[in-house]
Order: sequence, then structure tokens, then C-alpha cells
Amino acid sequence: MHTPGKKIPPTRRHVTRVVRGAPATDGAGVELTRVIAQPALPMLDPFLLLDAFRSANAEDYIAGFPAHPHRGFETVTYLLAGRMRHRDNAGHEGVIESGGVRWMTAGRGIVHSEMPEQEQGLLQGFQLWVNLPAANKMDPPAYQEHGAAEIPVEERDDGVRVRVIAGETATGTRGPVVQALTEPLYLDVELPPRARFFERLPTTHNAFVYTIGGTLVADGRDGGVTLRRDDLGVLSPGVQFDAAAGDSGARVLLVAGRPLNEPVARGGPFVMNTKAEVRQAFEDYESGRL
Ligand code: MN
Repeated sequence: MHTPGKKIPPTRRHVTRVVRGAPATDGAGVELTRVIAQPALPMLDPFLLLDAFRSANAEDYIAGFPAHPHRGFETVTYLLAGRMRHRDNAGHEGVIESGGVRWMTAGRGIVHSEMPEQEQGLLQGFQLWVNLPAANKMDPPAYQEHGAAEIPVEERDDGVRVRVIAGETATGTRGPVVQALTEPLYLDVELPPRARFFERLPTTHNAFVYTIGGTLVADGRDGGVTLRRDDLGVLSPGVQFDAAAGDSGARVLLVAGRPLNEPVARGGPFVMNTKAEVRQAFEDYESGRL
């Protein structure tokens, strides 16, 4: 019952808007779909950027992302298919393969390259940028790297499979990535045709669902909203997220994080709180201090 003047706590999370990924080119000419960090969705605090890449045409990805810097946030690479090699100026190097994740805290700064370790075949995955609080932007760089075998898979009713990359599901499966600053949840959810899925999310986290393939029907403001491939649904505050796959099933990312509510100053590969800090980052990079 509605009591006038009394705020009812939100319970169900519905899709408040649908954003379609836009074609973009980055690195040395990699063709990708930019989902967050485009005019329709500049950011979704603490998430600064989401790119999806998927191509079996080597020309789209072979140039990779040669040496470039980052400061002030985290870059998260999750691969569904292919191999990518990463190398930084502090001597850290690694390869991620299908099903693997590299959660890199750039902190005060690194210079790194991210290159496909393949000359043909499908390369498919995502890069998500997660902001760091002002107090932690200059922390030392850190890596959390996990292969597919280290990422737990929850088998649910209806044949739903949930890969838990970060955070903890309602039934207690914990992903290997831990980040206490933004408490991210990062799930890769596969649904057979018409399967149902629900998950509880921390109430005040910002959250989105991104459709990798198939169709997903979720609650909207007034009735169901259908999300198709490359659609991102921004979720309202609340707890429970309910969805069902369409006739061809669905694969989606469900991602949530604690908003930082701090000023954001962007300059290409640097994300700080003020323009002066971004200028400082460029100066530090140009004088070899990253
Ligand atoms: Mn990078």
C-alpha cells in the first residue's frame, strides 16, 4: 500500500534505458563497439568505458594496442575467444586466453601494450574501465589475472550458467577478482532459450546488463524490455534483477559497482579528478615518469 509522503524502498531493478553500442576504432586501428564512453552513455559511475570486440577478420584486430599509458583507474579485459598478450614497462607480462580475465589497476601509472597473440581466427572479448577513488588514483599498479579454470561456473535451474569473474552471487559463489574500493560484481550469464534468471544486487550499486548475443527480456518501467545483441540496459536502483531469454537463448554480462560520486576529469588514457591532474599525467608520461 502506498502511504503518501513515505518513500517505498526500491526492490526490483528495471531497465531505465537501452543504449546501443556504437562502432569505434581504437589502438592502432582495432574495430570495436563502444558501449560506455560514447555520446549516448558517457559513463555509468564507477564504469568509465565498455568496449566489445568480436571479429574473425584479422584486419579488424591485428594492429592491436601498441604501447600506451594509463593512470587513475582500472582496465579489465575479459576474453571469450582468442589470445591477447600484455606487456608493461615494469616488466609485467602475460597472455590471456578464452575465458580468462586480467583486472589491471593502473593506479599512478603504467605504459603497456595489449596485442593479439594470433594472426587469424575469432577474437572476442570486452574491455571495461573501472574508476578509482581520488584517494587511490596514485596507488601502485597491481594485477589480478585469472584463467578460465579459476573462474567458477554456477549451474542454475533452466540450464543457466553463470561465470563469476568478480563479486559474489546471491547463492554465494565468489569470483576470483576482489576490489574493495568499488565492490564490483561481474557476471557472464548464458541462458538457454526461454530460461529465467534472477540475481540480487547491492541496492545502491550502479548496474547494467549487456547483451553479447541472443535476446533478453527484462523488466522495464512499463512492461518488458527486449535487449538485443550489443544493447546495454541501464538498471534502476534496487535489489532483484529478473530476466528471461528469448527463443534463441541469450548471453549477457551483468555488471554492478559502487558509485564513487566524485568529479571526473578525462584525458584520453588518464582519468583523474581535475584537469590539472590530467595535465600532470601527460607531463609525467612525456618525461618518462610513469
Ligand atoms: Mn590499455
